[in-house]
Formats: sequence, C-alpha cells, structure tokens
Amino acid sequence: MESIGITTNSRVEAVDITARVQDVVSKSRAKSGIVVVCTAHTTAGVTINENADPDVMADVLDTLGRLIPKSGGYAHVEGNSDAHVKSTLVGHSITVPVEEGRLQLGTWQGIYFCEFDGPRQRRVMVQILSAG
Ligand code: ZN
Repeated sequence: MESIGITTNSRVEAVDITARVQDVVSKSRAKSGIVVVCTAHTTAGVTINENADPDVMADVLDTLGRLIPKSGGYAHVEGNSDAHVKSTLVGHSITVPVEEGRLQLGTWQGIYFCEFDGPRQRRVMVQILSAG
C-alpha cells in the first residue's frame, strides 16, 4: 500500500489527486485490477466528479455547505460536526478499475480529496489489487 500526503489550505476544499493516484498505479506496474483510494480521517472524504470545469466541485462544496451549516445545534462538542456529517455523506473511499496500467475514469472525471475541517496535513491510502 502507498500513501499520498495532502496539505490543505482552507477549511473546506477539494484537491484533485488524480495524477498522484495514477503515479502510484504506474509505479506499481499493475496492468489490470482495481485501485482503492481511502482516507482514514473523520472530517474529510474522497469522491469522483468532474475535473474539467472547477465550478462543478465549487458547486458541490457550496451545496454541502448550505445543506449542512457549520452551526446547527449539534451535540458533538468539538465544533466540527458539519465536517463529520459531510464526511459521512461524501464517503471515505472510492474504487476505480485499472486497465493497461491506466485508471479507467471517464473523460471528465477526476479523483478528489475533500477537506471539510482544514487547513490540515492529510493522508490518503492507495491500495492496488492487481489481476495481472
Ligand atoms: Zn469532531
């Protein structure tokens, strides 16, 4: 398993990690299989969405912010319950097929690390299950 370090710069942010995940796949020399990208943080997530127009992920983050406000009468005393809820909704991992050593993503798709309680030092795990 490999890991990728990510430095986030604001409280809420989407970081395109597609190229870094592809680098891990390329270095592994796996030709076919699946790759799992997972984060062990409870106030962050990993998702796949459009990376052609940056407004798409901006809209996703803005919409999550409207649906899940920072203050909302939460019980958790740490003051970051919105980030925990967003983490659960977005999910902590994605799985992508690999063929010919390449991530099988759509033309407009990218892999995003989603920060919901930054800025922080973060990490994602990349595990490749090779079928050849
Ligand atoms: Zn918390």
